Amino acid sequence: METTPRKHRSWAEPYKIKMVEPIRTTTKAERLAAIEEAGYNTFLLRSKDVYIDLLTDSGTSAMSDHQWAGMMMGDEAYSGSENYFNLERNVQKYYGYPFVVPTHQGRGAEHLISRILIRPGDVVPGNMYFTTTRLHQELSGGTFVDVIIDEAHDPTSLHPFKGNVDLAKFQRVIDEHGAKKIPYITVGATVNMAGGQPISMANMRDVYEMAHKHGIRVILDATRAVENAWFIKVREGGYRDASVASILHEMCSYSDGATMSGKKDLLVNIGGFLAIRDQDVFDEARSMVVVYEGMHTYGGLAGRDMEAMARGIVEAVQDEHIHARIGQVEYLGELLRQENIPIVEPIGGHAIYLDAKRFFPHIPQDQFPAQMLAAQLYIENGIRSMERGIVSAGRNAETGENYYPKLELVRLTIPRRVYTQAHLDVVAETVVDLYEHRENIPGLQMVYEPKYLRFFQARFAPLS
Ligand SMILES: *Cc1c(COP(=O)(O)O)cnc(C)c1O
Repeated sequence: METTPRKHRSWAEPYKIKMVEPIRTTTKAERLAAIEEAGYNTFLLRSKDVYIDLLTDSGTSAMSDHQWAGMMMGDEAYSGSENYFNLERNVQKYYGYPFVVPTHQGRGAEHLISRILIRPGDVVPGNMYFTTTRLHQELSGGTFVDVIIDEAHDPTSLHPFKGNVDLAKFQRVIDEHGAKKIPYITVGATVNMAGGQPISMANMRDVYEMAHKHGIRVILDATRAVENAWFIKVREGGYRDASVASILHEMCSYSDGATMSGKKDLLVNIGGFLAIRDQDVFDEARSMVVVYEGMHTYGGLAGRDMEAMARGIVEAVQDEHIHARIGQVEYLGELLRQENIPIVEPIGGHAIYLDAKRFFPHIPQDQFPAQMLAAQLYIENGIRSMERGIVSAGRNAETGENYYPKLELVRLTIPRRVYTQAHLDVVAETVVDLYEHRENIPGLQMVYEPKYLRFFQARFAPLS
């Protein structure tokens, strides 16, 4: 499927490199020792032992000279920092919400909105779960219900908007529990856990209408909404000539508020915010943020961090920036597809997802095939990736049973403006080399499991 307009020149980075950070290659013996030490969990590796780091695109992007200059303009007053007002102004202008509460990162905003809107026994539908989002809903006494379309769970489906909400599933949740038990629906754009898959504008509009008919709020997870806007531009009729900025603004108009991790779209190393239309919710968020993050005009951030994020908002919505960002992801995906490596399709906005079930068909899901695949990519050539499968899915809070997600994936996440095309060539070559000797690789057993978000700290050992 064509996802970028190809009739003109290909994309190229709309920047040049002013400063470099050396990276280190290691021997296979060193990498084996490092992964053993890390309990076969790539989260527990030391970054100095990693060659190409595709663990996440969260907080790992390169800031521009303009953002760095903004760091020097930090107004570190305890309250009423000028940087807060710059941030507020840009959120209002580009996202369209009147009220903004800064938070240290996305989960800070998720915590606030969950605590404010969810009562014990409530049900919160969403287009597939995200780890921290669902956990905060559960900690507030809510139960998450997945209402994404079935295609999202099929890594081979070529549906152009696999992030769409299935309106019939949403209706069933309303019928079953009653609208009073549903404080809001979370709409993710793009849907990280489905492979960075977008939701269409038409679907966002329909969800908003249906929710409002029943008095249910829509809370947008806007973390990757700019990437989603690009897909609307190139895949959804009627938006080809619209700017990404105008598409983003329209997307947000179909929601009552948004949680945001600035560490993704907004090109900063730390930061986030909760944005909202409702004055009452804002007042509560503003008083609660004081307890958990800091004063409502800094929310756990330094003034300089808010300034970098305010400037990042403007850079993120430039069409040539987002075209190059997604162009780079597609470039890696195409290299792998040409070699028949099983990946999630269509190629999403921020990462290539290897399908571990097809990569390691001989490893059953309860022997953590994706976890092992991530470990092997590191052993093979120092490439760090992340498991997004049964380990990330965790356990049902009530029954203690493992969730068995349909998708058992390894995420190769591309930080923005960080790696070159040659780095991506190396990544593709490494994956292909591993694929060629995949039969002999065993599964894993979990030898340590933490209580929350186990994928961050769990430890494993190979089964022989
Ligand atoms: C990263 C992420 C979050 C959480 O944000 P943090 O800044 O990591 O706390 C929420 N939703 C999505 C879609 C994300 O990618």
